[in-house]
Amino acid sequence: MNHPSPSAGQNLCRSCGLCCDGSLFFFTPIGDCKKDDKNQGNIHSRKEEVLPQPCVHHGMEKGCSIYATRPNVCRKFKCQLLRDVEENKSTIEEAMRVVEQLNVLRTRLLATVRTHVGHVETEPLFV
Ligand code: SF4
Ligand code: SF4
Repeated sequence: MNHPSPSAGQNLCRSCGLCCDGSLFFFTPIGDCKKDDKNQGNIHSRKEEVLPQPCVHHGMEKGCSIYATRPNVCRKFKCQLLRDVEENKSTIEEAMRVVEQLNVLRTRLLATVRTHVGHVETEPLFV
C-alpha cells in the first residue's frame, strides 16, 4: 500500500465535516488553547471558551475556511477513519467512499425527520 499524500487527510475532512457541522458535537472546546490558537469567530464563554457548532468557519463545500490556522484542538482531533488513512490502514479512496455513504445517510435522515417533524433541530450524537 502506498503512503497517503500529506493532503489526503485534508481532502477527506473537506468532504466530511461531521466533527464541525453539529452532527457529532454541540461545540468545539478551545479553552485550553493558547490565545493565538483560538481563532476568533463567535467564541462563547461557558465554563470554558467554545466555538459553537455548526462552526462559523465550516462550509459545506470547502470544509474549514481557516484550515491552515485552525485552533489546536481541531488540529489534534482525528476520528478513527482519518487515523486509519494516516496510518496506512485504509486507502484514501476507501475512506472517501465511507464519507460519501455517511453524507447520503445524513441527507436521508434529515429529509425523513423534516417529513415527519416538519423542522430539524439537530442533536449531536456526542457532546
Ligand atoms: S476528523 Fe473525521 S469526522 Fe472530522 S472531518 Fe475529518 S474525517 Fe470527518
Ligand atoms: S475551526 Fe475549522 S476545524 Fe475547527 S471546528 Fe471550526 S470548521 Fe472545524
